[in-house]
Amino acid sequence: MGSCIFCRIVEGAIPAKIVYQDDRVLAFEDVNAQAPVHMLVIPKRHVAAVQDCQDGDQTLLGYLLLTCSKVAALKNLAASGYRIVTNTGADGGQSVFHLHLHVLGGRHMGWPPG
Ligand code: AMP
Repeated sequence: MGSCIFCRIVEGAIPAKIVYQDDRVLAFEDVNAQAPVHMLVIPKRHVAAVQDCQDGDQTLLGYLLLTCSKVAALKNLAASGYRIVTNTGADGGQSVFHLHLHVLGGRHMGWPPG
């Protein structure tokens, strides 16, 4: 997946401010932050979006959520709260087609989202 920007970040070919990583996932700061804390949590393996996941991805999907909780705690968001979002497809507002969960915090989040 040489053309995928998030795969390039996983490979280290594009720099990112990494918050956490292990063998399965990578968390890094969003380059265009929409909140005082805005991180992206991605699988290291390329999957385009949540709708492209299969039954065999159940463990990975759960691990991504647990990683969101972990990095939110690392950024001291556990007490104040935060939002986890995954945009999917055109109407969902997805612009990078490598599955990612946004973790946003440090301010009050409105609802409904835009
Ligand atoms: P989405 O629009 O939900 O697909 O989110 C993609 C996110 O990736 C946006 O919030 C972008 O700001 C972010 N983004 C794109 N390129 C980079 C990059 N090189 N480093 C960090 N974040 C990025």
